[in-house]
Amino acid sequence: MPASQPAPSRQPGQIAEASRQLAAMGRHLLARGLLSQTSGNMSIRISDDVICITPSSMPYDEIGPADIVVVDRSGHPVRGTRKPSSETPLHCLAYRSRPDVSAIVHTHSPMATTLAILGTPIPAVHYMIAVTGVTTVPVAEYATYGTEQLARNVRAAFGAPARAVLLANHGLVTAGPTLADAAFVAEAVETLAGFYYRAIVAGAPNILSPEQMAEVMAKYQDKEPAAAAIGAPARPRGRTTP
Ligand SMILES: [Zn+2]
Repeated sequence: MPASQPAPSRQPGQIAEASRQLAAMGRHLLARGLLSQTSGNMSIRISDDVICITPSSMPYDEIGPADIVVVDRSGHPVRGTRKPSSETPLHCLAYRSRPDVSAIVHTHSPMATTLAILGTPIPAVHYMIAVTGVTTVPVAEYATYGTEQLARNVRAAFGAPARAVLLANHGLVTAGPTLADAAFVAEAVETLAGFYYRAIVAGAPNILSPEQMAEVMAKYQDKEPAAAAIGAPARPRGRTTP
């Protein structure tokens, strides 16, 4: 769903709620092992020109709502005292090219990053890949972190309806209509990457056929958020508004 354009009078409340969600999600994903130290970042789009994003170089267990930075569509800070994430260009370009997503999660989670280092897309090794919206999680070409080139490489590999893309020698980016959905997909891809890695180390994995995946994808249609489709674990508090 495209980001709406809320009346300016509603935005302070939405920014406060998004900031609370981002701070809480940082702790949640840290506890789940998807984030570590200060690596990774997350954002929520309030409107086309109002994006809440995690700060640069702060441990996730120290980030509070007041540390979240608001940037405009070009990534320029418009509110907050912290420096925005170094991957702000990636988030901003993804939002400009993907009106269907309102939240983005970027991690260096271990198994997804291992496959990203191998440059290996994740094929349909398990039906739960359907939560990514596609039957193969692609790999975006390598570029230095924090650069416009990396942002462009991600845009090139991350077309709708994909909700996940590996970043070569770097990590994982996921997206969704809410922060909870994007985080759910990040955790699902980490699980899938672990399955696939263990399977290729042990032998030659069977890959589900296009026909088998078409049946699964049909079952997932009209199930929004993605998390609902496979029985989500306990979801973090809150949802993105609107
Ligand atoms: Zn990164």
